[in-house]
Formats: sequence, C-alpha cells, structure tokens
Amino acid sequence: MNQVPIPAAEAINKLVQELNKLPGIGPKSAQRLTYYLLRAPEEQTRLLAEAILSVKQKIILCSACFNVTDSDLCLICRSDNRDSSTICVVEQPQDILALEHTGVYKGLYHVLHGAISPTEGIGTNDVKIKELTDRLQDGSITEVILATNPNLEGEQTAMYLNHLISPKGIRVTRLARGLPFGTELEYADDTTLTRAIEGRQEF
Ligand SMILES: [Zn+2]
Repeated sequence: MNQVPIPAAEAINKLVQELNKLPGIGPKSAQRLTYYLLRAPEEQTRLLAEAILSVKQKIILCSACFNVTDSDLCLICRSDNRDSSTICVVEQPQDILALEHTGVYKGLYHVLHGAISPTEGIGTNDVKIKELTDRLQDGSITEVILATNPNLEGEQTAMYLNHLISPKGIRVTRLARGLPFGTELEYADDTTLTRAIEGRQEF
C-alpha cells in the first residue's frame, strides 16, 4: 500500500504556517493560498518567490527621507518637481503611497518608521526624529506637516515634534481633524485625505 508521502505534507504545512503569519491572512486563507499555489504553474510560483526575496534584498531606505527605495535617494527626493521647502512627516512608508494617491501634496516627506509609545517602550530615539531635525538645520524648510496617525501614539508624536520644531521658527501644521480618531492614514480614503491635507491647521 502506498502511503501519502509525509515530506510533501510537511512542505504544505510549512507554507500554510508562513502565510498565516502575514497580516490579514487567517488559517483558512493561508490554506486556500497554499493549495492555489500547489496547482499554479511552476513559473508563477517561482516569480512570486523571487519577488518576495527581491524586496528584502534590493530595497533600502532613502538616505534623506527614509522612504523605501532601490537607490540612495528615493524617486520623490530625486524629483525636480517637488516643493523642497515643505516636509510631510509620516509614520510608515505606505503612508506616502496614500498621500501621493491624492495628488494634492507636492512637497517632500520624512518617514519616522513608527510613533512614540511609552506603553510599548518606543522612545524618541527609536524613531527617526533626530534625522528629521537634522534636515531642518539648513533653513530651507519653511513648513513641516505632521501627518502621523490620528490615534494616541500619533498624537503624542505630533505634540513632541511640535515642541521640537516650532522654536526653530518653522511653520508646523497638523492634518485636519476630518480623519476619524483611532484610524491609520494608509486606510483613509482619497477624499478624506485630500480634505485633511488641504485643511491642515497650525499646530
Ligand atoms: Zn527620499
């Protein structure tokens, strides 16, 4: 009697486990994806595996704004069509995507890679705040828009940054209150986000 080879089953379980670790993928979805990939052409699965490895191997952080990029400076920092007197401060690189999608903001960005959260032990040195203040030294920046998330950590971070930046004589603004409290920027719709940028207020 032929038994189902156990190594294959282990391989399946392993993929289910790994997919299950991804955000928004529960055990059921992980199983569905695994069996889909099992049936998919080998070429497709190879491209997927290569694409996953490639983002880890090729993507670095922009040396100016800390956006994700495959060259020293990201596309936004390298562009001649951006207003280089304004910096919009966001928590994560994907927040830039959300704001760029609205098409209304033409300045530069700065990615903090997190927000201050004393309860989670994330202090001012754990996010890219020093790197932000370094960028404000030469006097070319006239406005800093604080676009941290409209939740507790985001508000705390915005307040801290305002204390740090306002004394330098730089205009500090915060996205308008249209964004529902407790949400994250990347999930806001274009209309809400556009209104939030255009209606930004002095901190
Ligand atoms: Zn950049």
